[in-house]
Amino acid sequence: MNQEPRHFTTQLAVIGSGIAGFAASIFAARRNIRSAQVGNTGAVAYTTGYLDLIGKQGSAPGSVADPWQALKTLRESEPQHPLSRVAQAEIRQAFAEFTEFLGEFGLAYSAPGERNLTALSPIGTLKPTLCMPATMAAGPAALAGNAACVIVDIHGLKGFSGAEMVANLGQQWPALSTQRVTFPDMARGEVYPEVMARALEVPATRAKFAALLKALAGPATVIGLPAILGMHGPDQVHAELERLSGLEIFEIPTMPPSVAGLRLRELFEQALPRKGVTLIPQQKVSALSFEDDGATLALSDSYGAIRVHAQAVILATGRFMSGGLHAHQSGVREQLLDLPVTQPASRAEWYRERCTDPLGHPINRAGIEVDDLCRPLSKEGGVYNKRLFAAGSILAHHDWIRSRSGAGIALATAFKAVTGVEQFLFNPGRPSRVGHNRR
Ligand SMILES: Cc1cc2nc3c(=O)[nH]c(=O)nc-3n(C[C@H](O)[C@H](O)[C@H](O)COP(=O)(O)OP(=O)(O)OC[C@H]3O[C@@H](n4cnc5c(N)ncnc54)[C@H](O)[C@@H]3O)c2cc1C
Repeated sequence: MNQEPRHFTTQLAVIGSGIAGFAASIFAARRNIRSAQVGNTGAVAYTTGYLDLIGKQGSAPGSVADPWQALKTLRESEPQHPLSRVAQAEIRQAFAEFTEFLGEFGLAYSAPGERNLTALSPIGTLKPTLCMPATMAAGPAALAGNAACVIVDIHGLKGFSGAEMVANLGQQWPALSTQRVTFPDMARGEVYPEVMARALEVPATRAKFAALLKALAGPATVIGLPAILGMHGPDQVHAELERLSGLEIFEIPTMPPSVAGLRLRELFEQALPRKGVTLIPQQKVSALSFEDDGATLALSDSYGAIRVHAQAVILATGRFMSGGLHAHQSGVREQLLDLPVTQPASRAEWYRERCTDPLGHPINRAGIEVDDLCRPLSKEGGVYNKRLFAAGSILAHHDWIRSRSGAGIALATAFKAVTGVEQFLFNPGRPSRVGHNRR
């Protein structure tokens, strides 16, 4: 075996393949920044496909209807929150560029609007979100209009129950009913969303499934399905199924890992290399070092060692689940560079007494500190290295699960970090700007 490491040289190296890492690569490609992205498997496969900006304001009851107003309030109440440190124009542009990119590759999204949308969860509860896949958009509209709708679930599919959806939504949606079908050619045993999604990419299976839906619809004109409308190019599968059945159809994300999340990951992995990004998927960076003239990432795959040499690096390694942060007996550590982590003073302060405390738990706000260009700070409080930027859930001072702002924080801070990288690479003496788009 060749013992010499393979070398890649690039302007930007992105570490992490969650929404923040992928978004950073997309924003960089649009700005003609040559990039390489290295990422281990992560949380993106677990997402619902909904892109939340902010759905819950602090401990206030109820959901946020106007996310832009909520961001103004957040800026007053939590000025250190990552979303409070990115201008609204930048957040809007981040969502617009990200969803435009997905649409270009056959996964259209609703445009980011002025109000939150009402999204359906896998168990028939409702949550606010800013953007949703076009394949899911007819659901909230049917709910709002109390349209006659059948939720179709499938024999052998676990974790998605039409009866549960009707039980949870029936009061608000009296015209909702449910039926169960056998998926074409999968009559026996357990069936899996991913397998059905790939099967529906085959025209013959699609035609059989459309005929089943048509037969069961009765007076209903709208059908809700678990998210199984294709792994690649779901817009096309969705349009074809609607055409063949003559019904309006929408998807609902299933329990993680949902096709909606897997679809995003597969799209990124196929589309980014076509935009010139060097993608090194399913690998973990074991060391990151900085020299006078650049940074070096060390990793290895089954062929041996790899070195990525970059002018700038974006750290988007996530929190505990993805391995960006690690909780030890003595505290929380950032895994790659041992960057200082803002965290409760002792383990005794990680959690509040009540699990469901509306204030949330202090440990969920742990993370690294950055300056206004998203550059991590050192123990001394200065910039750790002028070549290092960070984005996503690894940042301190937010609890994205509680505030329903997972994608929002990832997109906004990735946008900010790429703006910082662009300034560092091309205009080191000038302040950053927003609103340009070279591709
Ligand atoms: C179950 C679930 C449901 C969700 N639902 C929604 C939703 O409905 N709406 C929404 O907006 N958001 C949702 N999210 C949140 C969203 O998916 C992201 O978790 C969140 O936006 C944070 O993204 P991130 O990129 O910062 O981090 P992560 O998604 O955690 O990604 C970090 C990445 O870094 C990688 N990594 C870590 N260390 C290394 C290393 N040393 N070398 C290489 N790679 C490394 C990890 O493998 C991972 O790929 C959901 C998340 C989960 C888990």
